[in-house]
Amino acid sequence: MSKRILYWLQNDLRLTDNPVFSDLATRQCALDVVFVINPHWFKNNNYQQKPYGIHKQQFLMQSLYELQQALIERGQTLHVLEGEPVSLLKACINEQNIDEVVYSEQFGVYEQRQISLLKAHCLNTQFTGTQQDTLFKQNDLPFDLSELPKHFTPFRKKVEAANSPITPTTLPNGLLPKPITLSAKKPIERITNKGAMHGGFNSAQAHLKQYFAGAMPSTYKTTRNELDGFNNTTKFSTWLAFGCISAKQVYKAVENYEQCNTANESTYWIKFELLWREYFKWHALKAGNTLFSFKGQKQTKPLTTFTPTRFAAWCNGTTPYPLVNAIMKELNTTGYISNRARQIAASCLVNELGLDWRYGAAYFEQQLIDYDVAANWGNWQYIAGVGVDPRGGRHFNIQKQTAQFDPEGIYTNKWHGHSNKTQQLDHLNEVDWPI
Ligand SMILES: Cc1cc2nc3c(=O)[nH]c(=O)nc-3n(C[C@H](O)[C@H](O)[C@H](O)COP(=O)(O)OP(=O)(O)OC[C@H]3O[C@@H](n4cnc5c(N)ncnc54)[C@H](O)[C@@H]3O)c2cc1C
Repeated sequence: MSKRILYWLQNDLRLTDNPVFSDLATRQCALDVVFVINPHWFKNNNYQQKPYGIHKQQFLMQSLYELQQALIERGQTLHVLEGEPVSLLKACINEQNIDEVVYSEQFGVYEQRQISLLKAHCLNTQFTGTQQDTLFKQNDLPFDLSELPKHFTPFRKKVEAANSPITPTTLPNGLLPKPITLSAKKPIERITNKGAMHGGFNSAQAHLKQYFAGAMPSTYKTTRNELDGFNNTTKFSTWLAFGCISAKQVYKAVENYEQCNTANESTYWIKFELLWREYFKWHALKAGNTLFSFKGQKQTKPLTTFTPTRFAAWCNGTTPYPLVNAIMKELNTTGYISNRARQIAASCLVNELGLDWRYGAAYFEQQLIDYDVAANWGNWQYIAGVGVDPRGGRHFNIQKQTAQFDPEGIYTNKWHGHSNKTQQLDHLNEVDWPI
């Protein structure tokens, strides 16, 4: 009798350069491909934010739809289940007599804990994890994870010196192993949107083709700090976050572009930024729970005073800072803002508003389509001065940033940064004072 395998899909919603699918394609087995939608994603967390905001939800459903269609063409199907993942998957494993669970290894502690719990509940089932989200496997890093450099630059230098090949895998042609039928099914509906970023691995491949067909990669370094403009940066982050495309595929596309077109500082800088992504991934794995802790990797607590009205003003874009308001309105409307915009908004929350950085990180988690546990919490810690910044935090001068990146106020006006509701930072009434 052939083996019965369950593939628990998470942030690996693609067929190409997905080593789990490549391996399954060569095996004699019956296969269930499952994605679990966790109701906790839509409920308030400790920071009163929902991990999955509306933009992210839409992108996810688009990505699942595209994958389901592609799986059907290969004689398979995608089962989307809704519920608490561990108990749901445990029930599937028992009902379907699953011999082996295959999955992509996760970098966030919460996700890792879920796999550990499932393993603990299913002691007779084999579990096989694969690292697919990074450029390198942990064993290919030129140091042990415990020796991960404390800062990005030494990490980058070591990795660049090791010069390990980055080779995406391809999926063999033909059908995938036959499906095991599950009773609980959720059909996925096609969702279209007007935004430039549409979820799914075909959409990611189309963007890869389009981005590297033009001259944009050869000017990336000069445009990457702009606040606005779709082509000023690569825009791969949303697809990378859901695994609709792999970091290896993007990296390889840069190398091909360098061979066939131009290799310059800009093309190098795209690879440089992908190494930042890589660094934050390994940092998250090493940091564990401290990625979310107020003090981060430092021993001192940042000075904050939590004022809910300040936080609400920041979220809604009604602070006294028009540029920050514009940034937050773009984020709320589209689910995406540039790196520079993220830095300015984060610095404002930490330095001007004096708020707890974790609330800002949780709000970004809810709003950003490209939310990634390692990049988001790692970058927030960096700016708050409790992370991997050798300078111990960043304070972006809003006036200077406005003069440099929005001198004519075009971006601020586009996103209505001069809100009517803009007030002074705190408006205390005499009735607010204790007598
Ligand atoms: C406070 C804050 C929060 C952030 N939260 C996230 C997040 O949740 N998810 C996320 O993917 N990025 C996050 N970033 C990093 C960065 O802003 C985005 O990756 C980038 O803006 C995405 O747009 P792009 O794909 O066009 O990037 P490009 O400029 O084209 O860069 C290419 C790729 O490199 C990687 N990259 C670039 N900059 C960084 C960086 N600073 N850290 C890690 N990876 C990077 C991304 O994968 C990106 O797709 C955050 C940055 C800050 C300052």
